[in-house]
Amino acid sequence: MSEPNIIDGNAIAQRVKDSLRPRIASLKERGIIPGLAAVLIGDDPASKVYVAMKARDFAGLDLFSETIRMPADASQSEVLSVIDRLNRDGKFHGILVQLPVPKHLNEMEIIEHIHPDKDADGIHPMSMGKMILGLDGPLPCTPYGILMLLKYSGIDPQGEHVVVLGRSNIVGKPIANLLFQKKVLGNATVTVCHTRTRNLKEITRQADILIAALGQPEFVDASFVKDGVVIIDVGINRVDDHSEKRGYRLVGDVKFDEVLPKAAAITPVPGGVGPMTRAMLLSNTVYLAKKFATKQIEGS
Ligand code: NDP
Repeated sequence: MSEPNIIDGNAIAQRVKDSLRPRIASLKERGIIPGLAAVLIGDDPASKVYVAMKARDFAGLDLFSETIRMPADASQSEVLSVIDRLNRDGKFHGILVQLPVPKHLNEMEIIEHIHPDKDADGIHPMSMGKMILGLDGPLPCTPYGILMLLKYSGIDPQGEHVVVLGRSNIVGKPIANLLFQKKVLGNATVTVCHTRTRNLKEITRQADILIAALGQPEFVDASFVKDGVVIIDVGINRVDDHSEKRGYRLVGDVKFDEVLPKAAAITPVPGGVGPMTRAMLLSNTVYLAKKFATKQIEGS
């Protein structure tokens, strides 16, 4: 049996998926099967695993998905022309490019090339702009997943001091922004920390909710947090472990065992934020398919 303060991301992801079923059924009645194109460039082993898991998630809900594999030395113009084709292809309501892309490619130009109406990852500048303004649009999957983890765990961020460790475009910046919005699942007071932050622990010890998205294995130990804190550990780090068959194990950005006794609630790695990120990709794709269907009706 798991500890009562461990947030079960797999179980919550399943609830999110179940909540999509009625919307998927009504789209199917109208002849629309939500479809995702996942573009995988190169041979990064972790990216291959993520894309395979995403394809399995789509199959699990009888949705359509296709993986478009491109070689590691694909040129910028080749990638952009594949995205042009996918933008025009009506089978796909969502497109994602698995990140990171090989270093010689311009990642932001690739993301911007995806039509905003097909932005399954919710990271196109148009989607981000809408998010900041509090307008309707696809939300970036990991921050969206964190909101759903809080919601389904009955944790209301309103009035709480949230400390976010990390300011990346896909995690830190958007989750900080979402949590201070004047909205349900918002209304928090948010502090964002990064490598130039002074007196880090003084700040993190004030956190009612701590979101760790640094990419530093087990960086946050018990000395960073106060009793009763809620911890969302976004980090996924491979550390060498020769006792494991694959030669490594996955750890988060938080020293889980050490921090667990102090935490009112905490997400494990794996099994916390990861499955939620994938569930929100399904949710975004269904959302985009529904918008597509609405546009079809309005246009007819
Ligand atoms: P990035 O590397 O893009 O950003 C890391 C951020 O953490 C930066 O803002 C950096 O600061 C800050 N940082 C790094 N070290 C320190 C430090 N010692 N003290 C204070 N701040 C620090 O990472 P991502 O946001 O893309 O990812 C973070 C982690 O989350 C990774 O482990 C990644 O694998 C994981 N991840 C997990 C997902 C999931 O689905 N569970 C999805 C996406 C990411 P600065 O800006 O100053 O450099």
